[in-house]
This record gives sequence, structure tokens and C-alpha cells, in this order.
Amino acid sequence: MNPTPATHADNTVLGHFIDGTHVAGTSGRLGDVYNPATGQVQARVALADAAETERAIASAAAAAPGWAATTPLRRARVLFRFKALLEAHADELARLISREHGKTVPDALGELTRGIEVVEFACGIPHLLKGEMSEDVGTGVDSWSLRQPLGVVAGITPFNFPAMVPMWMFPVALAAGNAFILKPSEKDPSCPLRVAELLTEAGLPDGVFSVVNGDKAAVDTLLTDSRVAAVSFVGSTPVARYIYETGTAHGKRVQALGGAKNHMLVMPDADLDQTVDALIGSAYGSAGERCMAISVAVAVGDIADPLVERLAERTRALKVGPGDADEVEMGPLVTREHCERVKWYVGLGVEEGAELVVDGRDCRVPGHEDGHFLGGCLFDRVTPEMRIYREEIFGPVLAVVRVPDFDSGLRLIDDHAFGNGTAIFTRDGGTARRFSHAVQAGMVGINVPIPVPMAFHSFGGWKQSLFGDMHMHGPEGVRFYTHLKTVTSRWPSRATGSEFQMPVHK
Ligand code: NAD
Repeated sequence: MNPTPATHADNTVLGHFIDGTHVAGTSGRLGDVYNPATGQVQARVALADAAETERAIASAAAAAPGWAATTPLRRARVLFRFKALLEAHADELARLISREHGKTVPDALGELTRGIEVVEFACGIPHLLKGEMSEDVGTGVDSWSLRQPLGVVAGITPFNFPAMVPMWMFPVALAAGNAFILKPSEKDPSCPLRVAELLTEAGLPDGVFSVVNGDKAAVDTLLTDSRVAAVSFVGSTPVARYIYETGTAHGKRVQALGGAKNHMLVMPDADLDQTVDALIGSAYGSAGERCMAISVAVAVGDIADPLVERLAERTRALKVGPGDADEVEMGPLVTREHCERVKWYVGLGVEEGAELVVDGRDCRVPGHEDGHFLGGCLFDRVTPEMRIYREEIFGPVLAVVRVPDFDSGLRLIDDHAFGNGTAIFTRDGGTARRFSHAVQAGMVGINVPIPVPMAFHSFGGWKQSLFGDMHMHGPEGVRFYTHLKTVTSRWPSRATGSEFQMPVHK
């Protein structure tokens, strides 16, 4: 693994967004932002130090009380305007994402749409914050619950969804009355910075939403500063574990979503056309850089041979090219380093004895010779002890594991360290029901390859795919970003004397 040095296309330096405005970085440290289709560095991004991150925290802490005191309906109206701005600027935002991430523009529009759906959900915050009320919990005594904001909360997000994953977090956090600091991925920071401008244009007060670009130095400050009440994280499992352990050790509420290895169980009665379509899209869409990508197809019984044959044909025919070109199905990988790592895994799979049916490593895109391109790769006869089975590769590599029956397929999935999403393809309702009931994973698809829950449900995995208790957005998101308070009230007309025993229902 020895990537050649990248060339610099221009001198753009992206800074931070603090107190309602863009600010230049002062740490003197910069990261490279690539155009994955050309392999060139198209911008540099400032990497915040502790002092710069503390400035954003101070700004958020100053803005939080006023925002919390703004009525939920008024907060929702800001989000309504924000949603309209996102829609008006959708094409611009999708192109920003595609230029830095590499995914196709239609795919970037798709992630933006999934983010906008969370904004739509958050617009219902007056209803979502309603508590429960019990009259007469004792004679003349009433009790009710309410949910109040936490204060300053932070989100740390991965490169693969620069719009959607931040929007799993901040629309709900802001609607609930918190101030939010986003530390996006340093690989594709432009979309989050533009989103910050749109929030300000929508009427969000200065300081309520900030973007601090950076790496571990910024993250560690957010994890340890006592003014930050909660941290939401999405990224790889080792970092998720670190975020959870460090954040909770500093008294914070933490939800940390990690990596994945999503299996699709393909039963012998599955519709082969539908299954192949679903596998090709979910394994190779976004060049496999999705936490809900299917990276393992578990073929049950004699469906394995026709499945592999059809998959091979389709994998070879994938249209690979720059994300903004028409009819491209799969764009480049985010960085050269990541592309080399995925290729290294393909080589490892061959060494481990898996059968490389389609090798995408020699993929060339004319006119884009320095781009981070890799064609679709397909392995057959992968076994559970191989590293290419156990570890997350996060690229366009699909592994087929052959099993004799449903039970061994289910056991395989349950024994895997990750438990983000999974799917079954079958025409038998009883088998599907048995699978969805028993399988050890957070999100399950039945003839649906990427079962990402809608905004009004909650997103999250099990096992090494999530550290913490609560999933993101939907009802769990509202719970995560609010404190529960329960009030018990009575209005006696005269003194009733002191009571020394534990109060009981009277
Ligand atoms: P990453 O873990 O490298 O980075 C995620 C974030 O953590 C970035 O903002 C990064 O700057 C920061 N970070 C990285 N190393 C750090 C460290 N040592 N200390 C503190 N902060 C650090 O992940 P990535 O490569 O950007 O994204 C891909 C990963 O994210 C994959 O593993 C993928 O499965 C996962 N992911 C998971 C979900 C999910 O819902 N479970 C969704 C999207 C992505």
C-alpha cells in the first residue's frame, strides 16, 4: 500500500462555521480534500485544535438557553424554512457531495432526501415533546411528564453520508431545543458547511448550530468538555467504542453507531431476478461505502450456482465512472488510501482461498486515470474464518457464503460480530417471519435489501454496530436529545401536617 502523492488543483481552504458565520482555522493544521474522480486534492480543510473547538462550545453554550426558551412551534417553523431551502438547493448540495465523496449525483440526491425526511419528522416537535398526564394519582394529586432539552450536544459523523448522517442527528436535536455542534468528516466537509449557511438563512439564531472541522483533537475536546451534555457518533467500530467509553467516562449521554457486515440470506425459493437486482444495487451502490450495504450473500442450498453465475454477469457489466457523469452506476472510492486498502483486502481474500469470480482491481476509466476507481469484485466460497468475511471492507466487494439450510444461515449471521442490518429473500411468509423474529440484528429487510428505517422510526444496529442504548432519529432520537421530567402536583386548601413515612397513594 503506497499511494502516489496527490496533486493540488486549487488553494481553497475550508474553515469552520461558528456563531453564525464562517471562520478561518487558526491551528495551522490542514487536511486534504480530494476529488475522488480525478485523484487531485481540490481543497484543504482546517483541522481545529482544542481552543477553536472550545470557542464553538462557548458560542453554543451562550445560545442554548435562548433557543431552549423559544417555543417548540417557533423552533419547528425554522425547520420548515430549512426544509424548503434544502429542497431549493438540492442539486447544488448533491453535486457538492458527489465532488468530494465520489458517489453519483442521483445517489447523493437520495441521501439528501433521506435527510430531509428527518427534518420533516422534526417539524412535528410540538407533538413529539408531549408528555403523559395522570389525574388523581392520589386524592387531589396530579402527575405529568415532560421532556426538556439537554443543552449543548455534539455530533461526529463519517465520510460516507455527509448530508444524511448529520441530518439523522441535528434536526431532532435542534427541534428539541438544544444547541448542536457538528464535527463532520474531514474528507468531505463542504456540504455540512453549506447546510450551516442554510440553517442561518432559515432563521436559526447564531451559535445554535456550529460546524467544527477537524480530527481527533476536535473530537477529544467535545468528548471531555463538561459543557457538552451528549455526543452522537457514526463511524467505524474501533472509533465508536472509543467515543462511547470516553464520552460516558466524562458523564455524557452517548450513542455511537459503528461498522457493519450485512448479510442477505437467499433462500432456495427466492425470486432469482429480484434477488440479483437487489444484491447488485445494495453491494455496489455508492461503491459499497454504505453501512447498510449488503457485503455477504448467504446462499442456501442449490440456489448458489445460478446466483453466483447471474451475479458475476451483472458485476462485470457495472458502469463505473465519475459520479457526475450520466448513466454511471458506481463512482470512485473516497480516497486513494481507502481504494488501496480495499484492493489489499481483495488480494487477501485470494490468499485465504476464496474464489475471486470477478476481479475489479484492473478497472480503468478513460480520462480519469488517477481517479480512485475500483470495479465490482465478487468472491464465492467464502468461509467464516476468513478475514474478508469477518472484517468490514467498505468497498465494492461482495462475498458469497454457501450454507446447506436456513438454520445454518441464521447461525452464521447471529455469530458475526456486527449486527447492523440484514435481509432475507424468500417467497415463504413463515420462513421470513421466523427470520425477522430470531435474527440478531437491529434492522431487518424481508425482500428489501437495505432496510433503512424511515425518519419516523429509529435507526441503529446491535452488537458491535452500536455502543449505547438509543437508536437515531424517530422516537428514540427525541428521547436521546431530551431529559425526562415528571411533575407531581397538589393544591391543598389547608395544612395537612408532616408525614414521615414513604408517601403512598391516598
Ligand atoms: P471513521 O471512524 O474513520 O471516522 C468517523 C468520524 O470519527 C470522523 O468524523 C473522524 O474525523 C472521526 N475520527 C476518526 N478517527 C478518530 C479517532 N481516533 N478519534 C476521534 N475521532 C476520530 O469512519 P469513516 O471512515 O469516516 O466512515 C466509515 C465507517 O462508518 C464505516 O465503518 C461504516 O460502517 C461506518 N458507518 C456506520 C453507520 C451506522 O449507521 N452504523 C453509518 C455510516 C457509516
